[in-house]
Amino acid sequence: MNHSPETVVVVGGGVAGLATALRLAPLPVTLVVAAPLGVEAATGWAQGGIAAALGADDRPDLHAIDTLTAGAGLSQPLVARRVAGAAPAAIDWLVGLGTPFDRNPNGSLALGLEAAHARRRIVHAAGDGTGRVVLETLTQAVRACPAIHVMEGWRAGELLADAHGRTAGVAVRDREGRAVTLAARAVVVATGGLGGLYGATTNPLGAVGSGLALAARAGAVLRDLEFVQFHPTAMAVGGDPERAASGGPAPMPLATEALRGEGARLFNARGERFMEDVPGRELAPRDVVARAIFAEIAAGQDVVLDARMKDIETRFPGVVALCRANGLDPARAPIPVRPAAHYHMGGIKVDGAGRSSVPGLWACGEVASTGLHGANRLASNSLLEALAYAEWIAADIAGEEASPGVARAPSPPRPRSPARAEIRALMDRQVGVVREAEGLEAAAKRLGALADRDGDDLSLVALAITEAALRRGESRGGHFRADHPVPAAIARHSETRLADPQAAQAVETRQVA
Ligand SMILES: Cc1cc2nc3c(=O)[nH]c(=O)nc-3n(C[C@H](O)[C@H](O)[C@H](O)COP(=O)(O)OP(=O)(O)OC[C@H]3O[C@@H](n4cnc5c(N)ncnc54)[C@H](O)[C@@H]3O)c2cc1C
Repeated sequence: MNHSPETVVVVGGGVAGLATALRLAPLPVTLVVAAPLGVEAATGWAQGGIAAALGADDRPDLHAIDTLTAGAGLSQPLVARRVAGAAPAAIDWLVGLGTPFDRNPNGSLALGLEAAHARRRIVHAAGDGTGRVVLETLTQAVRACPAIHVMEGWRAGELLADAHGRTAGVAVRDREGRAVTLAARAVVVATGGLGGLYGATTNPLGAVGSGLALAARAGAVLRDLEFVQFHPTAMAVGGDPERAASGGPAPMPLATEALRGEGARLFNARGERFMEDVPGRELAPRDVVARAIFAEIAAGQDVVLDARMKDIETRFPGVVALCRANGLDPARAPIPVRPAAHYHMGGIKVDGAGRSSVPGLWACGEVASTGLHGANRLASNSLLEALAYAEWIAADIAGEEASPGVARAPSPPRPRSPARAEIRALMDRQVGVVREAEGLEAAAKRLGALADRDGDDLSLVALAITEAALRRGESRGGHFRADHPVPAAIARHSETRLADPQAAQAVETRQVA
């Protein structure tokens, strides 16, 4: 294995990890990925696309305004403007790598519309196959890049510090389960989201916030953990049989928001279009639509998405295939839908260069909290965020003098989570679309006991989310408290850290300006 302490270790093989590795080259990079490249990354499942103000009627500041509106007071204006401003160049970069985005007959990029975007600005590929196409393009580029060494089937378990507390490497398990220590001049965590902590999720089931646990145990500050986005229209079917058949997990397939952008309508079992009187109707912000569907289902009304449109086969081939695999024909009959954990707005708190609060540690993609998404992510802003920050992180690392330290020996490996099924059921029931103090307190107590007993990452991350949700006595963006339904007058972030990294009960959460 070609690895020296001068190397940058990037953990994760989704858009964030791959783009960061490519931007870092020709610096030497070791890319550590738990699964084979191209598999088990949420990136590959993205259907809608990438937001970029490219239309003649659009401007980056309009994109930034939509981002701030969705973020419900916690998106940072400077970050939103900077990322929206970087979007056209990020698309150019992907085009330069050979990404075959969909185009109009005149050759310009075809732009889709999604909820809460005031303009058509969603760049897409293969209809609703954007994530797959982008992941394939980035994977090919990484495989062709001599500076990047890919370690597939390797799982990062612990960040290692030098004597001064600077991140100096990562302890990993290789494909055979052997312990390997990778020294590094810098580590970039790009491990994705945490929908797999929930039973109802659109995420790969391996997305359980392992990067958050790594960073927290290294002393990093995490921010806004309570903000989980529930996608309103996951298909209420038995999962994705194709993924299950290929040995992968079977999360809920997604009926992309772009369907509603193109006119699909929501109905309850009585045939009522229950979004009719809600501002924005089916294109209201995701949390509004998710709660409306949740309320219908709680009242005993199943919900369907009527996406019967004449060109659904050509415009949404991925959705059609997922439906057919579950015995549905969306061209003839509505699709049963319900909300599912989809995206984590919170994450490792980073600055404008993607630096965490721990020297030597950067974070990129869904695992990071950059200040872009605030309390609620605007659709199709997450692939964009990862692409934008990948470039800024790489420039920051390259501009720093390499001073690799000597990493401390790793601790014994953490156990797998024996209580995974219980944690997922608990998170669905008590830390889901609608929360209240009693349920959150009960969940925190149980998760604290599990974290104490098992010392695993899943219960630690689930506990940290629950504590943050309990402390936020208001409703804002993706976080809804039935016992505090109104937003507080002043929007505050929450910050979480471990007082004692070895003791999960020592999760500390506070609200900050
Ligand atoms: C169904 C679906 C549709 C979506 N549609 C869109 C969309 O249209 N537009 C949009 O902008 N966003 C969309 N999103 C969100 C977006 O896809 C994700 O936020 C984004 O892809 C996250 O990229 P990432 O690189 O941070 O994480 P991922 O793509 O999830 O990659 C994480 C990587 O980290 C690896 N990993 C995890 N833990 C470890 C570990 N301990 N050691 C080593 N490797 C590890 C995983 O194996 C994986 O390779 C969608 C998400 C889903 C689930």
